[in-house]
Amino acid sequence: MRHSICPGSTIGVLGGGQLGRMFGIAARRMGYRVHTYESTPDSPAGQISDREFTGSYTDEAALQEFVRSVDVITFEFENIPSSVIDRLAQEKPVHPRSEVLHICQNRQREKQFLAAHGYPHVPFRIVSSEQETRDGLAALGAPAVLKTADFGYDGKGQQKIENSGQIDISGLAGRKGILEKWVDFDCELSVVCARGTDGQLSTFPPAENIHHRHILDYSIAPARLPEALQREATDIAKSLAKDLEVVGLLAVEFFLTTSGRLLVNELAPRPHNSGHYTFDACITSQFEQQLRAVCGLPLGLPDLLVPACMVNLLGDLWVNGRQPDCSSILRHPNAKLHLYGKTEGRSGRKMGHYCVLGPTVDEAVAEALKIKTELNDATRR
Ligand code: ADP
Ligand code: MG
Repeated sequence: MRHSICPGSTIGVLGGGQLGRMFGIAARRMGYRVHTYESTPDSPAGQISDREFTGSYTDEAALQEFVRSVDVITFEFENIPSSVIDRLAQEKPVHPRSEVLHICQNRQREKQFLAAHGYPHVPFRIVSSEQETRDGLAALGAPAVLKTADFGYDGKGQQKIENSGQIDISGLAGRKGILEKWVDFDCELSVVCARGTDGQLSTFPPAENIHHRHILDYSIAPARLPEALQREATDIAKSLAKDLEVVGLLAVEFFLTTSGRLLVNELAPRPHNSGHYTFDACITSQFEQQLRAVCGLPLGLPDLLVPACMVNLLGDLWVNGRQPDCSSILRHPNAKLHLYGKTEGRSGRKMGHYCVLGPTVDEAVAEALKIKTELNDATRR
């Protein structure tokens, strides 16, 4: 561990959301200092950091002060100009490297990377006009989904197109779009893979993901899928992390089609919502693994200690700005509550999550869904 960044050092995190908050909790537990960089103060990550830098990605003075104050930099958010990463990397190590961010932050580059390297992916066309969208829909077949190439998350910037009469490209606002064939899937799953500075690879158990309105609703681990399929997804995730030369984490989302094929949906070079279960249920969490990878430490064991079901708490439960009554989570002895310190509960905004642990996967899911019903009922009252 001659070149590793040891406890007591300072980690810089670009982005102040919940992924940075949970990363910061893992890092501080191991004796690291954490400095967060985010555009607005009192961010979820800033609240638990040693220092919170407030600035935009064009604020040269704030970036300069931030980079000077840290030993290594990572990020929890993808929409950072890769030129900023290049600039910071001249002074301090940044993991993952900027090329990885550049590919993963744009659906066009991401899809082209998958296609060029022979990974199974959803058929797509790159479009920038109504005519191209019409031609694309004819070639792919309806239905399809039109997505903006940049800045999409949690289904934002996505529009399902059932037939050519529904084509409307105004949502692209003059930017490029990706027209994707609509996939009939049996389920969605994801694998978070870590890669160390020495190339060591480690994957967390695949999570089975259930989305609602294009937003992750809940995740189940272990995924209730055949071993061979889980191994195939894990092998693809490892191979992608290697091809991209990621140092840090790479989350890979998959569709399992109704004909039994695995297709890569998208990539994220950071911790992933579907990996939150690892915080409570694995020997090493995805956040500690990110820390170990970017600091050049040996990776921890990712093994699942107990079956788990993680459910997102969205802003829709925050009626009239009031935090929901969490007693149905708190009184459950196997449930772990995580709130992200956000005060404004907008619809679809991720405010927190809870994770119900074992003893069997079926029991964890049943209990988690029972709590979910209680929370929804209490909100309606
Ligand atoms: P993001 O997570 O960045 O918003 P995704 O491409 O992962 O974008 O889309 C979010 C969700 O929308 C997916 O997890 C899936 O449930 C649904 N979805 C997206 N693309 C397709 C598709 N081509 N076919 C079927 N469902 C899709
Ligand atoms: Mg997604």
